[in-house]
Amino acid sequence: MVDFTLTTEQQQLREMAHDFAKNVVRPVAAEHDRTGEFPMAVFKEAWNRGLVNTHIPEGYGGLGLGCFDGALIGEENAWGCTGISTMIEANTLAQAPVIVGGNEAQKQKYLGRMMDAPLLCAYGVTEPNAGSDVASLRTRAERKGDVYVINGEKMWITNAGKADWFFVLAKTDPDKGHHGMTGFIVDANTPGLTVGRKEWNMGQRASDTRGIKFEDVEVPVENRLGEEGEGWFLAMRAFDHTRPLVASSAVGLARAAYEHALEYAGVRKTFGKPIAAHQAVAFMIADMARDIEAARLLVWKAAWTIDQGRRNTLYASMAKCFAADMAHRVASDAVQVFGGNGFNTEYPVEKLLRDSKIFQIYEGTSQIQRMIIAREIFSRK
Ligand SMILES: Cc1cc2nc3c(=O)[nH]c(=O)nc-3n(C[C@H](O)[C@H](O)[C@H](O)COP(=O)(O)OP(=O)(O)OC[C@H]3O[C@@H](n4cnc5c(N)ncnc54)[C@H](O)[C@@H]3O)c2cc1C
Repeated sequence: MVDFTLTTEQQQLREMAHDFAKNVVRPVAAEHDRTGEFPMAVFKEAWNRGLVNTHIPEGYGGLGLGCFDGALIGEENAWGCTGISTMIEANTLAQAPVIVGGNEAQKQKYLGRMMDAPLLCAYGVTEPNAGSDVASLRTRAERKGDVYVINGEKMWITNAGKADWFFVLAKTDPDKGHHGMTGFIVDANTPGLTVGRKEWNMGQRASDTRGIKFEDVEVPVENRLGEEGEGWFLAMRAFDHTRPLVASSAVGLARAAYEHALEYAGVRKTFGKPIAAHQAVAFMIADMARDIEAARLLVWKAAWTIDQGRRNTLYASMAKCFAADMAHRVASDAVQVFGGNGFNTEYPVEKLLRDSKIFQIYEGTSQIQRMIIAREIFSRK
């Protein structure tokens, strides 16, 4: 039996998130895009309204919502502004390895803390020379008595400038490839950890992306997540939870672009009629609506599958890849519908096109998603 009806609670959740996106996020989105100033007030308001850290289990003060509910919220947040929704989603990404592999004490301390105050955290895996090829990362953690000493560098870390703590993936046994990596929780104020300048990116400029340096950073053994060698597993399992959320954000952005295009096509006139009456424009709008719907269905399936306790890696990658490519195409077509105005910063769609590109890059590029999809298909044969 298939049923797409949302429960009353889910509808309320969606309405609450939409209200936040409409009345808190949208009014300031363009300004944060222009200045790159971190939207701390927006984050605090999201935290006050319970729209951040929604998946933290009830035992640690959270709402314990599932991935499906998170995707409903994610789509609305992103409809408001994806620079801002990425900031919120990055918290989820950093927390996911702790939820998957943390022990009771680590969860109480680091997840509980997120519910006591509006704090940010960050997921530190990528390095200047290791993005898609995570196994080639060079950050090293060496055990010395009761501490691990971390040396190395991370790059492109979302929320890095404001994070209270980081999930850090480092090599404890460089000869063992994937199996030589270990995950750690590292407090941001640990001596030897320095955060670099804010990167000025093409889009999603409200989001804070920076490099991090580790110079003899001493991390207590109790901050190791799981056993030595389990870091790769934790870092990748986190994506099963978060890729459906990233995909939901791509859907939210595409929906915003579609709505702008739809409205504009009804009022802009050429050759004596609204451009919507020209079939070439109407078909662009039709394709947008079709593809947004298809992407949302993939998101819902990927999110629903993991909420059932089943492995969703295949669907998470399908959803992320399809929604990311779709959002970039839809945003580009929205600019096309606006014509010259679409290319101008006075209109909303140029920001959406710039913002959309990163969906094809972070949390695994669209090429890497296709590799995962192919691997999942062939490994089942
Ligand atoms: C704004 C932003 C925020 C980010 N936030 C975070 C974060 O919070 N935490 C974090 O750890 N990382 C983060 N990242 C890093 C992001 O996940 C990586 O940029 C991404 O995984 C790609 O890695 P790369 O940039 O090194 O590109 P590369 O790996 O160098 O890839 C370059 C190109 O080659 C392609 N390619 C690479 N290998 C293959 C292959 N085997 N087959 C086919 N094509 C291939 C890629 O698809 C891409 O098109 C962020 C990045 C950005 C830009």
